[in-house]
Amino acid sequence: GPTLILALTRENAVAHWRDLLGPKTVEEAMKENPNSLRAQYAVSNVPIGQLHGSSTPDDAQKELEFFFPEEHTFALIKPAAAAKYKDVILQKVKDAGFTISKFKEESLTREMAAQFYHDHEGKPFFEDLLSCMTEGPSVIMVLTKENAVEEWRNLMGPVDPEVAKETSPESIRAHFAEDILSNAVHGSSTKEHAQKSIECVFGELDLD
Ligand code: ATP
Ligand code: MG
Repeated sequence: GPTLILALTRENAVAHWRDLLGPKTVEEAMKENPNSLRAQYAVSNVPIGQLHGSSTPDDAQKELEFFFPEEHTFALIKPAAAAKYKDVILQKVKDAGFTISKFKEESLTREMAAQFYHDHEGKPFFEDLLSCMTEGPSVIMVLTKENAVEEWRNLMGPVDPEVAKETSPESIRAHFAEDILSNAVHGSSTKEHAQKSIECVFGELDLD
């Protein structure tokens, strides 16, 4: 049947959780530490403890990566928002549980902006978009988290701030976008796009 899997965090978490669990088998746990979790929450007739904990920090790392694989996405605070709201947007990023794995502040060249937005080449707003993206320094980041691509897009909100205010009032675009063009932030739409944009800005990366 289903198992509940948790990532637990505190100082010295591996040893502390193992202390709480108590001895390996239910029999030992009952005898040696009746207050331990394995003794208290034993299931009758099942001699095997119902709870697991990683043996070492290295094992914990491996098990966490297996059950909660991390993903990287490419994220950018556009120049107008970077000038006005950089700190508050960065705080929102951290509050949402992203790790900022790479960070730089730099003005994009038109070539870079065209690369990030090559899907939109030929659209009527394309030239305006390149101008808006190159008018000053952007904050450029690699954000890391489980399911990072999708979660960053959720945090950004819909492309049009008027829609964002209606449907995602807590999103970054609802709070900080001026209009659909100068809409505060950019984020890759797929893992593959993210990889390309990350390489374009930060070079080959061994983030995994
Ligand atoms: P982004 O790619 O910037 O993360 P997105 O994926 O939500 O945003 P896209 O449809 O890929 O939205 O549009 C890319 C960018 O082009 C948007 O961020 C926005 O600034 C601009 N844009 C999109 N549609 C329009 C439009 N109709 N008029 C003006 N600008 C637009
Ligand atoms: Mg897009």
